[in-house]
Amino acid sequence: AGAPGAGLPKQAEIPGVGAIIAVASGKGGVGKSTTALNLALGLRALGLKVGLLDADIYGPSVPRLTGIHEKPQLDDSRRMIPIARFGLSIMSIGFLVDEEAPMIWRGPMVMSAITQMLRDVDWGQLDVLVVDMPPGTGDAQLTLAQTVPLKGAVIVSTPQDLALIDARRGLAMFTKVNVPVIGIIENMSYFLCPECGTRSDIFGHGGARHEAERLGVPFLGEIPLHMEIRATSDAGRPVVESEPNGPHATIYRSIAAKVR
Ligand code: ADP
Repeated sequence: AGAPGAGLPKQAEIPGVGAIIAVASGKGGVGKSTTALNLALGLRALGLKVGLLDADIYGPSVPRLTGIHEKPQLDDSRRMIPIARFGLSIMSIGFLVDEEAPMIWRGPMVMSAITQMLRDVDWGQLDVLVVDMPPGTGDAQLTLAQTVPLKGAVIVSTPQDLALIDARRGLAMFTKVNVPVIGIIENMSYFLCPECGTRSDIFGHGGARHEAERLGVPFLGEIPLHMEIRATSDAGRPVVESEPNGPHATIYRSIAAKVR
């Protein structure tokens, strides 16, 4: 009981790690993990040393998105060594537990899992650590905000109202715990037909930009709903890595340039 966050470890930097950026969403399925990974690759493409922490304890998807299915080794001080892939240092709770097993976490377990993923990992020297958060606003977000100094949070939303309402809730929560909101990304912003290139605004494109303006937070960019983004993700070769000269990689790099 007591104030929210009572009993949590005090906020402290992770030695060697520069900026820590949380990627959040109000609800699941909006493409938060896909965006987090491609954003991390976009930051890498800008010449930064980048780590990716998949802290989505309820449904870690980084093993699937990266094709990594190995357990991390331990260093001399028994800290986990992140897996090196695509020029990133990657750690996921999914490397440690069965990805398919449903996970039921109680508050204290959430806090200790998040804290361990930040502190008991040998991150080395990083300019940026991108943290893929679980969807929603709960113990994991609170723990992250209160354990390490965050540069800020990036909120991923689709243009649909429901997702936007949830994004708004996320925004309010980060503001409450004094985490700056770096901006909002609209994912699945419009549909680009892979056959003919025709564009359709199936979810009503522009909702997130409008909402960002209304809330006075930066709008970071629009990512189309495109077959290639899904297919490359499912194949474990994210689009910024597999198609570095393609239009999608360009979009993620331009968002990365605003976030860095
Ligand atoms: P979340 O982390 O929000 O639950 P994911 O990143 O796992 O969402 O994405 C959910 C599904 O949508 C995945 O199958 C992913 O490949 C797909 N997806 C995400 N973003 C896009 C996009 N811009 N275009 C096409 N498919 C996408």
